[in-house]
Amino acid sequence: MDSKRNLLVIGNGMSGARVVEEILARGGADLFDISMLGDEPHGNYNRILLANVLESTQGAEDILLNPLSWYEQNHIRLRAGVRATRIHRFARRVEIDDGSDEPYDLLIIATGSRSYLPPVPGLRTDDGRLRPGVFGFRNLADCHGMAQYAAGKSRAAVVGGGLLGLECARGLQRLGVEVTLVHRSSHLMNQQLDAIAGAILRAQVEAMGIRVMLGAEIRYSRSERCHGCHPRWAGMWCLPNDGGRSRHLGLRRRD
Ligand SMILES: Cc1cc2nc3c(=O)[nH]c(=O)nc-3n(C[C@H](O)[C@H](O)[C@H](O)COP(=O)(O)OP(=O)(O)OC[C@H]3O[C@@H](n4cnc5c(N)ncnc54)[C@H](O)[C@@H]3O)c2cc1C
Repeated sequence: MDSKRNLLVIGNGMSGARVVEEILARGGADLFDISMLGDEPHGNYNRILLANVLESTQGAEDILLNPLSWYEQNHIRLRAGVRATRIHRFARRVEIDDGSDEPYDLLIIATGSRSYLPPVPGLRTDDGRLRPGVFGFRNLADCHGMAQYAAGKSRAAVVGGGLLGLECARGLQRLGVEVTLVHRSSHLMNQQLDAIAGAILRAQVEAMGIRVMLGAEIRYSRSERCHGCHPRWAGMWCLPNDGGRSRHLGLRRRD
């Protein structure tokens, strides 16, 4: 009889894989049958390097931390490409979006975070998916989607002037797209920098050819031709456009 307990990890990202590495290093393989669920269809990768994938200086395979062979070698049952949808704590099982479920004795939840998308009209289709040309910047699929969509397009707006927004803006620019960076605060990277450092950073970013718009927030996104700017909006910016039809963001100054 197998006296090992079922250890189930939801989330196959940097923390999920790291905690399993640690458990294995402490002899956990003798104690647990380990299963991992991840809704991304690959092994664990270094998310911090995603900008390199966006700008194509590294491929997805270059940033893998735990390739699929690592799971096999360590007898970890990985279910990649499925999403946990519900946890039944008393029954100790997890429902999966493909209709199956997974039992557990011990459960670790390492599901990370996701891109914040402002609740403005036009970013999503009626069924809740992001419209073509609108992307978060969180995973490999976002990078591949952006790079594919940007091919042959001319302009992009990046919303958010923190570290990730800056990386994304630079990545898109390197793909040959003209980028406007839109940020709510009065200076870039306001969580990390004071106003003076933010101003220095802004000057450097602009010197790279990225347009910076501060104190602005998006009001809507729409897929129509641009007929000029409404006086209340500071401007209208096109996300990568598609065959003459552009996606527009209505922008409002925060005074
Ligand atoms: C572009 C970018 C650059 C970054 N740069 C830095 C940096 O320079 N320095 C730094 O310290 N941090 C950086 N970070 C943040 C860092 O990547 C995160 O802190 C780290 O990835 C968190 O690890 P995690 O395992 O908690 O979450 P994640 O790496 O997000 O992994 C969570 C995993 O769980 C999966 N998941 C979520 N819900 C479910 C579900 N219901 N069922 C199955 N699977 C699910 C997700 O798809 C994902 O694969 C950056 C992040 C990004 C996106």
